[in-house]
Amino acid sequence: MTYDIVSYGHPCLREKAKPIAQVDDAIRQLAGDMLETMRAYNGIGLAAEQIARTEAICVVDLSPADDRDGFDAADVVGVRMPLILVNPEVVAESDDEEIAQEGCLSFPEIYVDVRRPTSVTVRYLSQDNEVTEIRARGLLARAMQHEIDHLHGILISDRMPTTQKVTLAGKLKRMGRLGKKGGVVPRK
Ligand SMILES: [Zn+2]
Repeated sequence: MTYDIVSYGHPCLREKAKPIAQVDDAIRQLAGDMLETMRAYNGIGLAAEQIARTEAICVVDLSPADDRDGFDAADVVGVRMPLILVNPEVVAESDDEEIAQEGCLSFPEIYVDVRRPTSVTVRYLSQDNEVTEIRARGLLARAMQHEIDHLHGILISDRMPTTQKVTLAGKLKRMGRLGKKGGVVPRK
């Protein structure tokens, strides 16, 4: 089944995710539904807060992303997509940072420049309950950091440069009002 994705302004997007003690059938079901939802909205990542849930889980799938800016197939060699990350945390990051444009399914039609470490190591619980680490750079590193931000209640609107905050103020305000009323993002 697919969920509705909540819009910026929805209080759930500011929640801190609760760690998952163990991956069981209910969590596997949730992960499958999140993947289905992400695909229904043509996204490459989704965090539980975006479907108004508070479990610490997010999904990433870059396999449809090969024609997007910033994607380099070499960055994901040896990584099987989709990625289902339970209790993910960044345990190491590069000193190098880069700025790139990011979108978010909870902010339709908005793209902002976000500065992030170029590469990261992420530790998470696998679907078999094994503590696993993945090292990534480029778009995959960025996508994982974006989703982990969600699990801490942090959004791209918190990371955008001041100039964009000004130019997007009206749009964000309208979107925020919709989200506050429990509004969801229209499907394409
Ligand atoms: Zn997002």
